Amino acid sequence: MQIRDAGSPVSSPNFGGLVPCQPNLPEDIKVLYNDPMQQIKKTKIIATVGPSCWEDDQLVAMTKAGVNAFRLNMSHFNRRHFIRVITVSRRIARNDDRALSIIADLQGPKIRLGILPDTGIKLEAGQKIKIQLSDKYQDGILPSQFDFFDYIAKGDRVLLRDGQIQLEVTKVDKKSVDCKALNTGIVFSRQGINLPDTIIKNSSITSKDLEDIEFAIENNVDYIALSFVQEAKDVEQLRQILKRHNAEHIGIISKIETQASLKGLESIIVSSDAVMVARGDLGAETPIENVPMIQKRIIRLARLSQKPVIVATQMLESMINSPLPTRAEVSDIANAVIDQADCLMLSGETAAGYYPIEVVSMMKKTILATEANLDYQNQPQRPANQNPQLALAEAATSLAQRLDLKVMIASTSSGTTARNLSSLRPGISIYTVTHNRRLFNQMAIVWGTKSILCNPNQNGTRATIDHLLKNKIIKPGEIVVSLFGKHKGESGGTDTIRLFRT
Ligand code: PEP
Repeated sequence: MQIRDAGSPVSSPNFGGLVPCQPNLPEDIKVLYNDPMQQIKKTKIIATVGPSCWEDDQLVAMTKAGVNAFRLNMSHFNRRHFIRVITVSRRIARNDDRALSIIADLQGPKIRLGILPDTGIKLEAGQKIKIQLSDKYQDGILPSQFDFFDYIAKGDRVLLRDGQIQLEVTKVDKKSVDCKALNTGIVFSRQGINLPDTIIKNSSITSKDLEDIEFAIENNVDYIALSFVQEAKDVEQLRQILKRHNAEHIGIISKIETQASLKGLESIIVSSDAVMVARGDLGAETPIENVPMIQKRIIRLARLSQKPVIVATQMLESMINSPLPTRAEVSDIANAVIDQADCLMLSGETAAGYYPIEVVSMMKKTILATEANLDYQNQPQRPANQNPQLALAEAATSLAQRLDLKVMIASTSSGTTARNLSSLRPGISIYTVTHNRRLFNQMAIVWGTKSILCNPNQNGTRATIDHLLKNKIIKPGEIVVSLFGKHKGESGGTDTIRLFRT
């Protein structure tokens, strides 16, 4: 589906001359013989919640296994369940003193099938099938929840199940389309319909999304993920809605999943708080073979803008039904870690699979085994810039690397200082200290950071050093580097780098 994209022919994606970033790799592979679950990973894990994992004890077990954020997919399930998930996850964060983000992922103008029989509908290659606007499968007709019949033309492709089943339109009516199946497969209720050849003029924010945004605000989520973003204006529209509700503190994650969003990528990244490589729809809306290089480009551009970036979809898909992943899936995770994405996301694996805890453990083990073999010291030179905050972060990182320090501390009131440090991927633990509980939780999706919550009249750096000494993360006498501002609570006010001997 392409929306509001002026009907121009679709060109192949432009990688902007950017090579994928890659830290140095070792000659010999370091193997983690001791229990890797004891170690702190830098790459974060987001788990989508659903019936397979939304009981209280499962949510607790998933956070123990390595989850940093829970995603509520607003396309599915009852809000009652989501309210409980939010309550439980806030409780876990408070009890365990650990940051946990909640992300409400809007459905957007996603076209979905209606309700089909539980066993699904099998389509055979060559079979003729009609699609019409309706809630339920009836008389051999597939139901669509969205009326796209005015926009589609004979010869256009209709992709079902993230592109696994391809149909070709043979006839268009006002209220339905006739199609021919080009391959065989089974479709199930509410699976997505992608129309890569069709332009639909529509807003990225639907009336359902508006209701879900209100729900997200009322329940105080940390991030809202905006689906099918086309251009920076869409992000601005959501920002205005949040402003009208006094909810500007909620971060916006733009999901990159259409041709149009690739064209306006740089400005979308700048206007967002984070971005997601939404490979499910991306692999249907663009040629699937381009997705790996698009992923690398999005990660690199997001890092250059100090914005967290999430790689999503089918990371451990086979573990929906199997206790072990495929070798290719493990490699896919490792490659996203080598590319230095901030977060990896699990979808159906945790929401609807048989092994929600095991899948998180598998992802964590793979992240740790890969990170143990990366050399973060010699990152590619970044372009010069006029951002004093970023220059301070670069200076602090180089100081910490020269002195071979274990820990950097960032006192932050908006998260900017921590995100700046993180975007440099220093390979040194970044402790982010704040007295703002919301920011504490939002930091959970930022690469390589660990959040510390202090009370407003405490000195943040001192409180963090006490925590590090108490938990034997550093020894007395060790040096740490700290970044802070003279004017506490002022966003963008970081102006000081200091070495502390503890
Ligand atoms: C995706 O398309 O990869 C994605 C994350 O979005 P959704 O699961 O909402 O389709």
